[in-house]
Amino acid sequence: MATGYFSHPDCLAHEMGQGHPECPQRIHAIEDQLRAQGLDALLQREDVPLASNSDLALAHDLNYVLTLDDFLQQLEANGDMRALDPDTWACPGTRSAAWRAAGAAVAATDAVLDGRIDNAFCAVRPPGHHAMHNQTMGFCFFNNVAVAVRHALDVRGLQRVAVVDFDVHHGNGTEDILNGDDRVLMVGFFQHPFYPYSGAESRAGNMVNVPLPARTNGATVRDVVDSYWMYRLEDFRPEMIFISAGFDAHREDEMGGMGLVEADYAWITARVLDVARRFCEGRVVSCLEGGYNLSALGRSVAAHVRTLIEER
Ligand SMILES: [Zn+2]
Repeated sequence: MATGYFSHPDCLAHEMGQGHPECPQRIHAIEDQLRAQGLDALLQREDVPLASNSDLALAHDLNYVLTLDDFLQQLEANGDMRALDPDTWACPGTRSAAWRAAGAAVAATDAVLDGRIDNAFCAVRPPGHHAMHNQTMGFCFFNNVAVAVRHALDVRGLQRVAVVDFDVHHGNGTEDILNGDDRVLMVGFFQHPFYPYSGAESRAGNMVNVPLPARTNGATVRDVVDSYWMYRLEDFRPEMIFISAGFDAHREDEMGGMGLVEADYAWITARVLDVARRFCEGRVVSCLEGGYNLSALGRSVAAHVRTLIEER
């Protein structure tokens, strides 16, 4: 058994324009560090299918899925780029990338639940945690983690699934979709006040939101994880854990203003895996969200993946 690695060349074909921070080079930076640190040889590379529209519709309005499909097929045919919202652009490569990114999360879920791998990292883009039930937002088209969560619950029959989000931005799309779904516990921290300017007041009881001021460092974040996340995760006794793995809270990442370093990501990952080992045989699926300083992103993902491998 091993840690599975899910990525696909189609995820490199989605571009949002010259100089956009959510760029294909992010995946190259990750794979470069995985190779440089000798981690790629320890990972089990897995195939990534396109998501099915029925899986996407577990988390999104079916009409949204079908309308987006039509729109992106037109771009594929005519080679255009178009904005879907002020932050989110689509190009001819977007359709296959978006369907692969969600497909990776679902395939990773199945592989872990079938016992073919211990846990998984999905190096995919576009990211997902700002994608709402029925709209694109903040570089996101489909909420890859929410789709996989609903697949685990509705298709695979799990009863309790946890979501951990350590991106610097609030996972408002995931909250939009999973708020009030008592089969799900979502724990997160995020810089506040900051984009998308939500999450400071927890909504339903299944959302554990910890807003943190700019310049919060790793020591404080570790206290937050131990004080706010751990007892909730332990009380909930998840059958599987999903990670919205954004790395833009790194101190070198200028998209955010927090002060995490690689060792903090390894530490948070180890805490999550500790819960997973105790309650759900180590079942964890982690999906890439943000992280825009290419060097810091590569190093942070390597620290995260090394922990997935070593603590599985
Ligand atoms: Zn982010």
